[in-house]
Amino acid sequence: MAGSGKFFVGGNWKCNGTKDSISKLVADLNSAKLEPDVDVVVAPPFVYIDQVKNSITDRIEVSAQNSWVSKGGAFTGEISVEQLKDHGVKWVILGHSERRHIIGEKDEFIGKKAAYALTEGLGVIACIGELLEEREAGKTFDVCFQQLKAYADAVPSWDNIVIAYEPVWAIGTGKVASPEQAQEVHAAIRDWLQKNVSAEVAPKTRIIYGGSVNGGNSFELAKKEDIDGFLVGGASLKGPEFATIINSVT
Ligand code: PGA
Repeated sequence: MAGSGKFFVGGNWKCNGTKDSISKLVADLNSAKLEPDVDVVVAPPFVYIDQVKNSITDRIEVSAQNSWVSKGGAFTGEISVEQLKDHGVKWVILGHSERRHIIGEKDEFIGKKAAYALTEGLGVIACIGELLEEREAGKTFDVCFQQLKAYADAVPSWDNIVIAYEPVWAIGTGKVASPEQAQEVHAAIRDWLQKNVSAEVAPKTRIIYGGSVNGGNSFELAKKEDIDGFLVGGASLKGPEFATIINSVT
């Protein structure tokens, strides 16, 4: 069963950029010719969200890379969903492997963050994915399903969720999953949604792939029936290449 949602491409800028480099990247994106039938979002570091929001074309939505688990208050160093909405942010990336494995965020906490962001009206790019040793031990599906279940147990609805399957061994390594490897996991995720969420949610939830996507491999990946878009790190910092990835919709 293939996905029926619109192709979705996110650019995760991570902890990169300066006012100058971001101004150039936004100018490149503003002048790029983008396929109309693709949802495009970019996720700058928090401190550049205003700059991007004020200069980028309306064609591209702005996402945050994280958000706090509840209403703001005495939470030093955190940014609340309400503050993001105050800046016109429409999406948030949650559960990214760098937050899971470097910062130590756990499934249950990530699920709660997703639930709060959705309840407050943000769309959530919900990341999941296995480590290399988990893949080698044959645990890819178990790990992905456990991470999915943590979202499913917490969220009020799946209307505004995009799932990003990002095998950790492929992120920032230049070692992209083959189209077949990615398709196999995407199909399993859709099947899991069908069995554990609903027959209605499964086809309409976008399942996007992330991990060393670039302008040279995106076309082959995009041909796979359950790959509904991409979450792009390194290559999203180059405007023309990011445009090529967006335009790989088939
Ligand atoms: P990458 O990062 O494209 O640089 O591998 C992807 C991501 O972390 O979302």
